[in-house]
Amino acid sequence: MTNKAPVIEVEHLKKTFGHNEVLKDINAEVDDGQVICLVGPSGAGKSTFLRCLNLLDEPTSGKVLFNGQELTALSEDQLDTLREKMGMVFQQFNLFPHMNIIENIKLAPMKVKKLSDEEATAKGIELLKQVGLEDKAEAFPASLSGGQQQRVAIARALAMDPEVMLFDEPTSALDPEMVGEVLKVMQDLAQKGMTMVVVTHEMGFAKNVADEVWFMADGYVQEKAAPQEFFAQPKTKRAQEFLAKVL
Ligand code: ADP
Ligand code: MG
Repeated sequence: MTNKAPVIEVEHLKKTFGHNEVLKDINAEVDDGQVICLVGPSGAGKSTFLRCLNLLDEPTSGKVLFNGQELTALSEDQLDTLREKMGMVFQQFNLFPHMNIIENIKLAPMKVKKLSDEEATAKGIELLKQVGLEDKAEAFPASLSGGQQQRVAIARALAMDPEVMLFDEPTSALDPEMVGEVLKVMQDLAQKGMTMVVVTHEMGFAKNVADEVWFMADGYVQEKAAPQEFFAQPKTKRAQEFLAKVL
């Protein structure tokens, strides 16, 4: 643990869609280098919460602060700059199908960060090594397995030098035999000190890698606990029922 201020602070966050109160009153902090695993039943609001962290969804009320800056108070331009610091990886990999892997990775660093082609390529190759795919630079997405595509998607997010990585069920669309290779890349990233918020149903990953597990249900974060504690002794009935189903 460091004594720095939290990277992300969430205060009384509410999000409603019409009459549907999805997030009712969320209060949370993510510290520098911390790995949070966000778990809970389908429809609990996990994706909505993640999307509120970088204002892909606009909170109905409450505050989200990133490095002490209140996101809801920023202009669109300022927000774009901040969003670059939060890499996001989704269930669907969303690689550009008409571009090869290295082109996929270097697009944003060249466009947004104004890296030269050479710099962006060198960085891309370095990141492909990190995710174990340096031999796939010239390949096209369709020729890669789902697990490989997701590792490219992680490399692509890392190419923007994010301070935080947000993952929304990154392994849920994968065939079971490919889940491990993606989780391994995420675990390596965690060990390097990346600050991460991971929505996942992979309870093994949460047990082994999370510093804290947050259990979300019915519009609230019902429990925040160290994984040993959460999995051995969930406090709320809601979490006990959830764990009985997934473990
Ligand atoms: P989870 O990721 O935990 O499964 P979600 O955040 O995707 O949950 O969804 C929580 C609730 O919010 C659901 O009832 C869903 O229908 C609703 N919801 C999510 N996004 C939208 C949207 N853009 N418009 C309307 N309702 C939405
Ligand atoms: Mg979701």
